[in-house]
Amino acid sequence: MYMGHYAIALGARRRLQALPMAWLLFASIEPDLHDVLGSLVPALSIGPDTHTLLGVCAAAIVVATITSLIFRRIDLALGAGMLVLSHVAADYLTSRLPLWRHGPVVGLHLYATHWVDFLLEAGTIAIGLALYASSPDLRRPARGGVAVIAIVMLACQAVWNFGLDGG
Ligand SMILES: [Zn+2]
Repeated sequence: MYMGHYAIALGARRRLQALPMAWLLFASIEPDLHDVLGSLVPALSIGPDTHTLLGVCAAAIVVATITSLIFRRIDLALGAGMLVLSHVAADYLTSRLPLWRHGPVVGLHLYATHWVDFLLEAGTIAIGLALYASSPDLRRPARGGVAVIAIVMLACQAVWNFGLDGG
């Protein structure tokens, strides 16, 4: 999944308002950031595990623990951990991933069917932004920006799915 991860983080904000938006976004893409770290520092040998069941559970526990230490609330810690787990759950829809290192590869691989993936991610963006916009603590100007965020996210997703040449 691509922009859908960010949409999930935005939607989660409705329940996790006490966490900074940057932390929610971080948690929602932590496995991909871990991938980048694994690529930059191959000696860490973490690349193959970031999207496995064991890898994502470990990452979720670490993120939840850090969240609980900083923010001192178990509900926020659980929410941040769930965001990490949501990443790989969503990726099983759009990709094919190993369940464990050298294990069976599973997933629907909707990336292969551009329109289906776009519709899935657009739906996720719509739901996530609707939840975000309904956050009771948001002021009117913040709510007004939701349409702009939606357009930007859908445009990025369209480029991801169809490329700049429309193919
Ligand atoms: Zn991923």
